Amino acid sequence: MEAKAHLAFRWTEAPFPLQHPPTMDIHRRGSGDNPPPPPPLSQPAPSDLKLKQVRLAHPEQSLPSPPSSNGASSPVERDYFYLRSLKECVEIYEDENRGKSESLAMLSDEEVVLLADNGKVAPHALEKLFGMNELERAVRVRRAIISRSPATKTLESSSIPYENYDYSRVIGACCENVVGYIPIPLGVAGPLNVNGTSFPIPMATAEGTLVASTSRGCKALNAGGGVSTVLVGDAMTRGPAIDFPSIKVAAQAKAWVDSAEGYAEMKAAFESTSRFAKLKSLKTAMAGRTMYIRFATTTGDAMGMNMISKGTEKALDAMQARFPSMVVLALSGNYCTDKKPAAINWIEGRGKSVVAEATVLKTTVGGLCNLNVKKNLIGSAMAGSIGGFNAHASNILTAIFLATGQDPAQNVESSMCMTLMEPTNNGEDLLCSVTMPCIEVGTIGGGTVLAAQQGVLEMLGVKGAHPQQPGKNAQTLARIIASAVLAGELSLLSALAAGHLIKAHMAHKPLAGRHSCCLCPCYSG
Ligand code: ADP
Repeated sequence: MEAKAHLAFRWTEAPFPLQHPPTMDIHRRGSGDNPPPPPPLSQPAPSDLKLKQVRLAHPEQSLPSPPSSNGASSPVERDYFYLRSLKECVEIYEDENRGKSESLAMLSDEEVVLLADNGKVAPHALEKLFGMNELERAVRVRRAIISRSPATKTLESSSIPYENYDYSRVIGACCENVVGYIPIPLGVAGPLNVNGTSFPIPMATAEGTLVASTSRGCKALNAGGGVSTVLVGDAMTRGPAIDFPSIKVAAQAKAWVDSAEGYAEMKAAFESTSRFAKLKSLKTAMAGRTMYIRFATTTGDAMGMNMISKGTEKALDAMQARFPSMVVLALSGNYCTDKKPAAINWIEGRGKSVVAEATVLKTTVGGLCNLNVKKNLIGSAMAGSIGGFNAHASNILTAIFLATGQDPAQNVESSMCMTLMEPTNNGEDLLCSVTMPCIEVGTIGGGTVLAAQQGVLEMLGVKGAHPQQPGKNAQTLARIIASAVLAGELSLLSALAAGHLIKAHMAHKPLAGRHSCCLCPCYSG
């Protein structure tokens, strides 16, 4: 690798003096097609040299920008580049008189890449090796390492951003092997009146017309007095799979868990793990000699998967003391059910179960009700849907999930929704509702720790833990989501009923792959 590559580094003001004179390939380049004259090696003196960011390139490549591992380009960032040999780099890196982060601070980015390419540094461990003060450098160097592969060579100079991001919130919590972040446009629909309070509806989406369409629904709902919501359940679930030697022992264990005594013992063990986890129920089932227990618990303002997992583990320990032959196959045995379609969620609920209702004044009541029955109820029944009795609940829910740092994979069950519409006030107005039994949200933990997502939660007044009533912030967020879904349902169904969608699609040419002017999400519903 050393022999083949065209190696270069830039003389810059880096935070350490170069101890050794250059001993290998010294190359120079200018910013244009013609290379500048060779630099006088005495200027600056090697001992004064500082290394910062460098880039490795193949000789046949014409380098389009100054050689910086972050792809930055500026007239002062050109000229001379130098890379120490692998041997020298290893010597510096493995010097036992220094800590690893101190040694790495003495090496240029490109020299760290060289170490990684030769198996001396594990790319996934860069944050740990560099230390908490160099998290962005870890990301930059990882991009450079990955960019050395022909298949991924564009990463380093790509438009994937990585600078000015608070990686301290990411490391050990949100993501590993980080190479940047993905920005998603953030729009605001509404405001929408929910239980008498006006909320902006934050939506992170790349689906044109979605925000505008939801806003139109908000306006119609506000005109009728806004949305009222009820929370009819609040319990996150976990369903481990447990093996027993025989169906007989499994049945004994099931009977014990189902008994008042067993429940009390499991509950005490479960709740010993958290101030916020309050066990609500245990639902048991058997399949052969395997037993499933669906733990359902409140989780305060956290979405709760971590919390419930800890409690479940502890409760199973208590159970194990009673049934030493049992084997916990998996803490999650899919009886939960997390991130997969499942009837148990639709029937029993998971996370926050919310119903939102509103009256829409003076609208085309008959057409809307008919469409809702034929599409959302009968159409979905014909398709064998579980919880999909809606037009596009997942569109609105997922956009709000992304904006507020929720787990986007939980949109599977969280988007379960039944939309209902019926005439009211002697057929003058429309009474509509959405029933959403599984809105899985939190305002603490997970992606809610990220700065931008926290900013959105703050805007809604639900950031973090509720100071007096644990759980209230997460519940409010669930109510806002259900209400926004109702706005989205009303808007799309209204457009469909009025034939806007088809007409608009027929009448307007696609703009960049989609239609530009209708107020309906073109690929939705
Ligand atoms: P999750 O359980 O959703 O995966 P985390 O475990 O990341 O979430 O975050 C929950 C943590 O926050 C727990 O350690 C819990 O003790 C703490 N916490 C502090 N205040 C609250 C609150 N109001 N509701 C829930 N958890 C809280």
